[in-house]
Amino acid sequence: MEEFDYVIIGGGSAGCAVASRLSENPKTTVCLLEAGGAGNNWVVKAPMGIAIMVPSKTNNWAFETVPQPGLNGRKGYQPRGKALGGSSAINAMVYIRGHRSDYDGWAALGNTGWGYEDVLPYFKKSEKNEVVQDAFHGTGGPLNVTSIRTSNPFQEYFLDAGRQLQLPVTSDFNGTDQTGLGVYQVTQKNGERWSAARAYIEPNLSRPNLKIITGAYARKILFDGKRAIGVEFGRDGKVESVRARGEIILSSGAFQSPQLLMLSGIGNAPDLKSLGIEVRHHAPAVGQNLQDHIDFAFTYRSKTLDNFGISFGGLRRLWREIGRYRSDGIGMITSNVAECGGFLKTDPNLQAPDIQLHFSMATADNHGRTRHLGHGFGCHVCLLRPKSRGTVMLNSADPAAPPRIDPKFYDHPDDLEVMVKAFKITRRIMDAEPLAKWRTAEIYSESVRSDEEIRNILRDRSDTVYHPVGTARMGTDETAVVDPQLRVSGVAGLRVVDASIMPSLIGGNTNAPSIMIGEKAADMIRAA
Ligand SMILES: Cc1cc2nc3c(=O)[nH]c(=O)nc-3n(C[C@H](O)[C@H](O)[C@H](O)COP(=O)(O)OP(=O)(O)OC[C@H]3O[C@@H](n4cnc5c(N)ncnc54)[C@H](O)[C@@H]3O)c2cc1C
Repeated sequence: MEEFDYVIIGGGSAGCAVASRLSENPKTTVCLLEAGGAGNNWVVKAPMGIAIMVPSKTNNWAFETVPQPGLNGRKGYQPRGKALGGSSAINAMVYIRGHRSDYDGWAALGNTGWGYEDVLPYFKKSEKNEVVQDAFHGTGGPLNVTSIRTSNPFQEYFLDAGRQLQLPVTSDFNGTDQTGLGVYQVTQKNGERWSAARAYIEPNLSRPNLKIITGAYARKILFDGKRAIGVEFGRDGKVESVRARGEIILSSGAFQSPQLLMLSGIGNAPDLKSLGIEVRHHAPAVGQNLQDHIDFAFTYRSKTLDNFGISFGGLRRLWREIGRYRSDGIGMITSNVAECGGFLKTDPNLQAPDIQLHFSMATADNHGRTRHLGHGFGCHVCLLRPKSRGTVMLNSADPAAPPRIDPKFYDHPDDLEVMVKAFKITRRIMDAEPLAKWRTAEIYSESVRSDEEIRNILRDRSDTVYHPVGTARMGTDETAVVDPQLRVSGVAGLRVVDASIMPSLIGGNTNAPSIMIGEKAADMIRAA
């Protein structure tokens, strides 16, 4: 069995950062196991590839939730990256860190070292911002952050709609104040997606002490008593194992990290026993505390070719845009679809914005799975700090079976009521003249007026905006899954390092925070 100092399970946003940082020391050997492929072909590199990956199984686990009573019994869709880079290989590339108070909230729960001032250096360490250079931003890190290169006039129409309503406009959501509308910065370089793999792994592929095994699906963590010592994984139809002298780092994301803990005997003992899994450590909190951004999307038809769509004119334009992209790395192909958006408060007395908008240059209906003839645009609005709490459990003891995902969307009644306010705020922006003049129809919500009608359409049409977290909760209390050093309680030699450790969902997109978690964990591991 090959042996390494560290074995990392999952080459996603956090896993790539940890693998790269730990292998900076040439004397430290690191093995990174990734279930998906290399994630380095054109569909990942060209930002518009998102339109192919999110609705399909290309580099995507494409999970489903169990039927959600809060969504009138519908099943939710949960795309997750399945390639080196993880979800950063398929995501919308929006560069957001969340609000200062999110991290101060983590620290206030007893998670020493996770306050905003503690995590800011790690955001900066990871970042190479090509545009903003001030005390909030880094310029020497591996993660390239820059302006989008599409020049789509709808960015300005969206901001003008906000100005008409006296909403603030910001050029940096990650600076002093998050509030307002703006054009998002993106994790791209020269018009290409800058996934965690491109940032952290590709430049270091020649390190002899860093072994990357793709197509390696971890089946369980191997133990000697209470100490994690190795990983069993499947590859090319065979079962193989690797051993760790130092530690095993579980970075398989908010759905699959708890799944692997449970498959390895760490979870709620009665549930594990009922599936015939030998209990290593009774940890009932594993898979609990799932939080996700519930989202509603306004969808409009338009006639302009500035929006993506299916038409002869659109095809001609696409052909031209492919040429522009190939020669200069600019234009529509560099679009992340959600080019602009904002952070707003549904109640002016709130300390931080509680809703986020993603304005989309296409209808992007039903995660891009419902296609419309013609062109269109849309605007997503999501709830940043939902009170509903869901679970990730096992469907079966078979490692190949998908986890049982139950986000319990709208389970807490307050979530729906805040979304009613969010719906009304977003509609005012979309109804302002600079945007309204471009639409020919509001596809689903034209006739929706009363609060009851809004509640109904929210239940009928809401779903995730892709930020599940919290299923291996960090904390200092008895029920926390990991401690503030991210060590799994009750066993030795095992940490969880990814979005699952977040005690509460941050107010914003979760890629940069997951990378920050990876950066910070690497320092903790090196110091251990
Ligand atoms: C469609 C979409 C759009 C998004 N848009 C944005 C955005 O614009 N901005 C933003 O900030 N965030 C966005 N996000 C969220 C963000 O990308 C994720 O929160 C973040 O990437 C999570 O990082 P992670 O390290 O926790 O997990 P992931 O990056 O998901 O990594 C987990 C990795 O583990 C691997 N894995 C899983 N199980 C196993 C196993 N058993 N064995 C081996 N490997 C395994 C997976 O294949 C994957 O590579 C989006 C996400 C999605 C899905």
